Amino acid sequence: MEPSLQRDIPAYWPMWIGGREAAPEQDDRFPVFNPSTEEQLCEVARARESDVVAAVQAAASALPGWAAKPAAFRREFMFDFARRLLQPAITDELALLECLNTGKPLKEARDDVVKTAVACEFYGGLVDKFFGTTIPISPEVLNYTVHEPIGVTAHIAPWNYPLRLAFRSIVPALAAGNTVILKPAKETPLTALRMASLLAEAGLPAGVFNVLPGFGADVGVALAGNAGVNHVSFTGSFETGVAVMQQAARNAVPVTLELGGKAPLIIFADANLDLALECAIKAMFTNAGQVCFAATRLLVQDKIYDGFVQRFVERVKRIHVGPGIENPDMGPLISHQHRQRVMQYIAVGEDEGGEILSGGRVPSDPSCQRGFFLEPTVFAGMSHQSRICQEEIFGPVLTILRFSSPDEAIRLANDTPYGLTAGVWTTNVDCAHRMAVEIKAGQIFINDYAGGSVASPFGGCKRSGFGRERGVEAMQNYTQVKSVLLRIRS
Ligand code: NAD
Repeated sequence: MEPSLQRDIPAYWPMWIGGREAAPEQDDRFPVFNPSTEEQLCEVARARESDVVAAVQAAASALPGWAAKPAAFRREFMFDFARRLLQPAITDELALLECLNTGKPLKEARDDVVKTAVACEFYGGLVDKFFGTTIPISPEVLNYTVHEPIGVTAHIAPWNYPLRLAFRSIVPALAAGNTVILKPAKETPLTALRMASLLAEAGLPAGVFNVLPGFGADVGVALAGNAGVNHVSFTGSFETGVAVMQQAARNAVPVTLELGGKAPLIIFADANLDLALECAIKAMFTNAGQVCFAATRLLVQDKIYDGFVQRFVERVKRIHVGPGIENPDMGPLISHQHRQRVMQYIAVGEDEGGEILSGGRVPSDPSCQRGFFLEPTVFAGMSHQSRICQEEIFGPVLTILRFSSPDEAIRLANDTPYGLTAGVWTTNVDCAHRMAVEIKAGQIFINDYAGGSVASPFGGCKRSGFGRERGVEAMQNYTQVKSVLLRIRS
């Protein structure tokens, strides 16, 4: 990394509680790294249970004032904050931080900042239009509903899209009048902490937004189980999601769980194969496959299988892997441990009879000798029951399978424990519609993958979780309905 870039990053980042930087009660800290170079970027305060108590108190104290602001006030705040995020200096700064902290290509990190600003615009625009109803019980009774903020909301975020996924739930929560405590992943706390100071500079009252960097096993558990928290929004793995739900259940607190995936991308013989091929590359290898809805199972109809797979593999071999700051097609994985885990899956795939058509190793390019790089990897020839077809790998490892009929495509698509997304490429509208009906997933992309916007609700079924983030639907997570019945005496 260029020394000048590293110099700009503060050497130590405290927690953020009650509108200012705060030292953790135990003066503990942990290092944060650049996955493209393995260099330490800085140290970050390690929050513990006692710091959770302080953050919950700050968020609870700030709640009445923030919830009482007119919706139009919160709308204007969100619009103003979106404009701030889009100021070139701020966009550049956040994008660079995210790129250095995750290893993702700089242009993708920039897109994450822009999408966060768009979320502020969307929910700012929505908050004074999220109407209650009137219910016609009788002429003597006026029954109406109002949406009230749910209270102190906890947001536990993963490391793959640290800014975008944390703020996917935080923006509607703030817009609806709630206060927020964010626990970023220990690998990627930097943009969360920078957003705290940006929100404060924009005028967000103290205590409305708090950040507790640290580890899941202490601060994450304590936050999910704190009796002062009124909703937990969790994005991460299935196993952790279950643990979070158990913690929240102790206080009968609702949770939204955005968990893992094992998405199929189905290519029918009648599809526009050029477009389908480019779509499959992006659907699989964006963010080095560290995407919950990465299309990790490519199902190709047998009539076109050989030709399509040959072209696909040639295209995979042209994917340029390199440090995020150089804007490659694909950056490194998040950490040494995670790369080890993904490489173990590659070994398992070979043991299970899979044939590697491309990749499978650390790239030989000199720019990839430091950093947690891995080649984009394509498997074929394994059984659909193999672990690499059934389990979420969360890295650049794709399995290709053959199918003959729509029935078989549906059977294979549904044959994993997950149900987050699915993609279908066909020019036959009947077939497309049948896939949309019969595939069990929260999102179906037809002749596209991952198109959509903050306006489109997103979430899973089966082991991919429940509840929906994004869209108007997300406002339901962060509000509760109060029904008022008023007897009219004439
Ligand atoms: P993870 O489950 O290990 O961690 C997620 C967050 O939970 C982190 O902040 C972590 O510190 C915290 N945590 C860990 N243990 C905890 C506990 N016991 N109690 C409370 N919090 C705890 O997931 P990850 O490795 O950061 O992310 C990868 C996973 O996230 C993959 O499974 C991926 O599919 C999933 N994911 C899902 C979506 C979605 O929208 N559905 C999006 C991105 C990632």
